[in-house]
Amino acid sequence: MKQVRNVFFLVVILWIASCSGPVKKPSAENPKIVIGLMVDQMRWDYLYRFKERYGEGGFKRLLKDGFSCENTLIGHVPTATACGHASVYTGSVPAINGIIENSWYDRSWGREISNVADTTVKIIGSDSKEGRSPRNLLTTTIGDELRIATNYQSKVVGLAIKDRAAILPAGHTANGAFWYDGGKFTTSTYYMDTLPDWVNRFNRVNWKDTLMPEGWNTLYPLETYVLSDADDKDYENIFSGEERPVFPHKKAPVTSTPFGNTLTLSFARAAIEGYHLGEGSFTDMLAISLSTPDRIGHHFGPTSIEQEDNYLRLDKELESFFHYLDDRFGKEGYLFFLTADHGGNQSPGYLKEHRLPTGLLNGKDIVQHVKDAVEKKYGTSDLVLAFNEAQVYINDDIIAKKGLDKRTVADFIAEQLGKEPGIQNAYATATLATATLPERIRQMYINGYNPKRSGDVLIWWAAGWKPGSEKGAEHGNWNPYDAHIPLVWMGHGIHPGKTHRTVGMTDIAPTLAALLNIQMPGGNVGEVIYEIADGRFR
Ligand SMILES: [Zn+2]
Repeated sequence: MKQVRNVFFLVVILWIASCSGPVKKPSAENPKIVIGLMVDQMRWDYLYRFKERYGEGGFKRLLKDGFSCENTLIGHVPTATACGHASVYTGSVPAINGIIENSWYDRSWGREISNVADTTVKIIGSDSKEGRSPRNLLTTTIGDELRIATNYQSKVVGLAIKDRAAILPAGHTANGAFWYDGGKFTTSTYYMDTLPDWVNRFNRVNWKDTLMPEGWNTLYPLETYVLSDADDKDYENIFSGEERPVFPHKKAPVTSTPFGNTLTLSFARAAIEGYHLGEGSFTDMLAISLSTPDRIGHHFGPTSIEQEDNYLRLDKELESFFHYLDDRFGKEGYLFFLTADHGGNQSPGYLKEHRLPTGLLNGKDIVQHVKDAVEKKYGTSDLVLAFNEAQVYINDDIIAKKGLDKRTVADFIAEQLGKEPGIQNAYATATLATATLPERIRQMYINGYNPKRSGDVLIWWAAGWKPGSEKGAEHGNWNPYDAHIPLVWMGHGIHPGKTHRTVGMTDIAPTLAALLNIQMPGGNVGEVIYEIADGRFR
């Protein structure tokens, strides 16, 4: 009798539990986790250029099992790291999300600031007065929308070697964002007061000795790198402590070698396990960015053996990471996408050698010429408040004091800049809409212009030109070498295929929103790439 009564009570308790609000389980329609992988400075052509030596499980698997948007273009200038990471995850452009450069002259701060600068927080383990947070990002990310949609039960984490590449993708409501600072992964008090145990454990490993005890040598014999230029070229930068830019690189910092990718993806595995991502009742999101391909690109250029070796090794890293994800979540359990924040051009030294259009911009001379002209015309060069990247800021106080018309001054500065070799043209930003420019390029500049943060004049470099030295490579312009990026989707709900229809970097976030049945980010201007999951968008 007692047993019968117990069973009766159990049934009642279960019935009450079932009525007191259902515990929401993820529907089979949703992936356990979304993983975004941004490869810093990855040009679209890297998917194919080294294909002959890619294995079956890395880039080739992505292209075979996944859906590739072959013609994905960045819709804003400058094509810089911070702008790219913000654009992918906000579905928006600098004009709206506010991330106009990696750093800019901020009128309210009265100085140049980093895109993730925040003096109200501290970096954990650092004495710096200035912390890091997403506060300068003016709109929500897709991760924020996922958090809101699930009443903050989805977990969202960002990680990268660069701070901005971890912070901006993760968004405002992220559970954590981690970057590599002073030889360790860290975060700021914006997210938490102390590092989680799993981060401390990870940081206790001597990764440099573990990953590259012999330094960096090529994966295959040097002479087999037939798609790259010779190893010893004057247009390559030299690592501090090395004599020439050649293999083996004994003195290379881990973050400027392919082992930086190994380090980041090892940390990604630790984060998945540390946060138990993909184990809960709601879809989680992990935003990973690989920063070292960018450093290798800036150092050696896109046609170096170093960059080829980086991609051959990254291919193997991807294979092993996909195996890990398959085992942990099942092949259909995760939704993966790979893209980039921008591409990159050849170095001027390389271009010159091959008689391709190039030249060097002399920043110091340009600033001086503009200041001299302004002094001569208006009696004071202080009208030029700041030169920052490819923008000129005008001093509003002096404009007011002298009763000048700001637009006339901006036009005058633009005209002076236009005379400089290597500057294709310069424009007063307030009049961009009427600039005689090809429509798509004008739109890219308008998309990059934020009245509160941008300068008053912007500079358009000629194709192939670079400021500074002939060594190394740069990015930042509208041109396809900077703006044409890979975008490949794989996993949950994605059917294999590809499209050559032009899509935008801003289309990634709304496509994720559609796949997850959640709201688009607040500043979204992109559109859903409907081809990637036929039958799902109905
Ligand atoms: Zn970048």
